[in-house]
Amino acid sequence: MTATDTRAVLDSLVDSGLSGREPSREDLLAVLATADAELLDVVAAAGRLRRRHFGDRVKLNYLVNLKSGLCPEDCGYCSQRLGSKTEILKYTWLSPEDAAEAAAAGVAGGAKRVCLVASGRGPTDRDVDRVGKTIEAIRGENPQVEVCACLGLLSEGQAERLRDHGVDAYNHNLNTSEDQYGEICSTHDFADRVDTVAKARTAGLSPCSGLIAGMGETDADLVDVALRLRGIESDSVPVNFLIPFDGTPLAGTWGLTPQRCLRILAMVRFACPDREVRLAAGRELHLRTLQPLALHIVNSIFLGDYLTSEGQAGADDLKMIADAGFSVEGAEETTLPEQREQIRIRRRGAGTELAPNA
Ligand code: SF4
Repeated sequence: MTATDTRAVLDSLVDSGLSGREPSREDLLAVLATADAELLDVVAAAGRLRRRHFGDRVKLNYLVNLKSGLCPEDCGYCSQRLGSKTEILKYTWLSPEDAAEAAAAGVAGGAKRVCLVASGRGPTDRDVDRVGKTIEAIRGENPQVEVCACLGLLSEGQAERLRDHGVDAYNHNLNTSEDQYGEICSTHDFADRVDTVAKARTAGLSPCSGLIAGMGETDADLVDVALRLRGIESDSVPVNFLIPFDGTPLAGTWGLTPQRCLRILAMVRFACPDREVRLAAGRELHLRTLQPLALHIVNSIFLGDYLTSEGQAGADDLKMIADAGFSVEGAEETTLPEQREQIRIRRRGAGTELAPNA
């Protein structure tokens, strides 16, 4: 592609992002194929959409791992999978008090959303109630905090019960394209994941669903999953970069460069311009010193550690945000732009006895 072609592609993607039109697949593929010399142009174009919809705000999210390891599923990227030889902490359900203490530490560090994660194929109804007690304990100390649950595949009625327990959002990542899904997991399929996101959305929970890059996928796979995430109405889109844990089938898979990570983030921003695009696991490992540039594209990051690996210290994240000229989103600020917030509120109303447009 010539420099003129690249400029035309970026202009067209910015136009689509500002007008709400779906971007073309070809243009998204072209972003992933840009040269390193064009990288700043790509970041600047994605940054226009980021600033239009989210200003200079960065939302901070904090993970609390309620249950770790011992999973019967076989997701190839995951250190908690069946038969994983990765040395990680393994435990069943943190007590509500311990979870609330961990959540309070994240909130004190600036987190606006707490993500409650449990390993496993999916929760039992008892697990759902246990999460309800945990939310009660968390909100006892921090009533304003947003709560996202990530408990695996949901059965009928569980999303509604989570909503009634006070869950705001539900995370279930699509991870990769439908075509590649069979390569990374054999114990459930892509349709199962789409179904759980649909259950969460129908119950009025805010869907949070994203992807993992670096698992041997093609550019077409990345564009497919990004457009699918747009289509399933994911309000927040975590972008993870594979941490190739020893003891998992993807150990030793190092296919990413910092420049490619920025192109992937930009492509996701163009595909989902007004959604919360979140920089997630693997950012320290793969973006390395280019992390501050990513803040021009994403509007959300995880603070501190991930599920089974350590992240950059929270204080360093806050310094990085301030040094790059961004500000931490406050509890009283609304994350999503007005038009998407209205969709979220209508969905929430439709999933409850509230009037749909209350
Ligand atoms: S279901 Fe979740 S915890 Fe279990 S192997 Fe897959 S990603 Fe890991």
